[in-house]
Amino acid sequence: MSNIFETLESEVRSYCRSWPVVFTHAKGATQTSEDGTEYLDFFSGAGALNYGHNNPALTKPLLDYLSSGAVVHSMDMMTPAKREFLVTFQELILKPRHLDYKVMFPGPTGTNTVEAALKLARKVTGRQHILSFTNAFHGMTLGSLSVTGNSLKRKGAGIPLTNSSKIPYDDYFDGTTADFMWLERVLEDSGSGVDKPAAVIVETVQGEGGLRAARIEWLRSLAALLKRHDILLIVDDVQAGCGRTGTFFSFEEAGIEPDIVCVSKSISGYGLPMALTLFRPELDVWEPGEHNGTFRGHNPAFVTATAALRTYWADDKFQQQLAGTIETLHRGLEEIAGTVEGAGLRGRGLLVGIIFPDLETASKVAAEAFANGLLVETSGPDDEVVKLMPPLTVTDEELGRGLAILAAAVRTVAG
Ligand code: PMP
Repeated sequence: MSNIFETLESEVRSYCRSWPVVFTHAKGATQTSEDGTEYLDFFSGAGALNYGHNNPALTKPLLDYLSSGAVVHSMDMMTPAKREFLVTFQELILKPRHLDYKVMFPGPTGTNTVEAALKLARKVTGRQHILSFTNAFHGMTLGSLSVTGNSLKRKGAGIPLTNSSKIPYDDYFDGTTADFMWLERVLEDSGSGVDKPAAVIVETVQGEGGLRAARIEWLRSLAALLKRHDILLIVDDVQAGCGRTGTFFSFEEAGIEPDIVCVSKSISGYGLPMALTLFRPELDVWEPGEHNGTFRGHNPAFVTATAALRTYWADDKFQQQLAGTIETLHRGLEEIAGTVEGAGLRGRGLLVGIIFPDLETASKVAAEAFANGLLVETSGPDDEVVKLMPPLTVTDEELGRGLAILAAAVRTVAG
């Protein structure tokens, strides 16, 4: 089997380097490899499986849909599955949160929604420049890569990435950038040579960039500054959204209303490709056909997305249960971090991890956890953080088991 890893697949592969087995089955928070070994999955498809693998509440409507002979691929055409998703999203997600957004299907993945958001912001404002943040991750196509703050990924573009600048994220100066006076000053100074940006794109928690979590007051002051200067706020909720931080959108706790929101990963709830770009109705300046693509009408994804919303977001029971899960995980992680000098907690909600003072430790801990049946990834420019993203539906027993494996791995590596 190792020959296939070594010969057929490009060197660009990443996850199978750390997990060199062939996975054949999955259910809930468990993935099983070809030789029957069961792994606890605290990776959740990088956030695409918030409701676990093969969730029966989603499998049944999906199989019913597929066996009914209904339309699978429909591009932009309206179908009952798409209509139901739109109505359900409006009723269960937007309305109760008093959010007034138009919905656009920009293409199948996270990078597609970011591309659409950047294009729309430029079209609406007539300005080109976009500000994004140090350590940000927004995707791998040229527009989203241009706003990504990771040197290795940017090098992969092979051409200069223009029309965007990086500014310091909340924690860059150890929490001393809570107000944006410095940015306000250069924006107000007509002689500063700083072009007024079309938009600022931000993750409330940097999922790939080391689980840095912006403080609520930092997000509020960013939103207020942008409003004062008529600059659009884009929140990239591709990884932190769909419940990951404890609320459906990760910006809810801050009480801010982004102009544009990028959603993907867990919106289909089943690991099926799907993405949304949400924007204030008055920003809908697209000409028909100005942004299109073949795979935007994935009806099986609409079906599972609707089922996920109805199963988990029809009332606030799931959200309350989620708060308990978050508390248990944070408590367990704090205990583990407390056993290593200089280690600490990073992140928010179920997008959390442990940062170690030594850059080697996180990768070694992840490898040791894998050897003992737990899938966890690393995060950050130097892979300095062990990242935990269990499904939001993880049970207390699974959480306890995962934390025990992690604690043992940390003892072995750093004890
Ligand atoms: N934005 C964020 C915040 C992400 O975490 C990711 C994926 N890790 C993307 C955009 C890109 O999504 P995709 O890989 O589906 O293109």
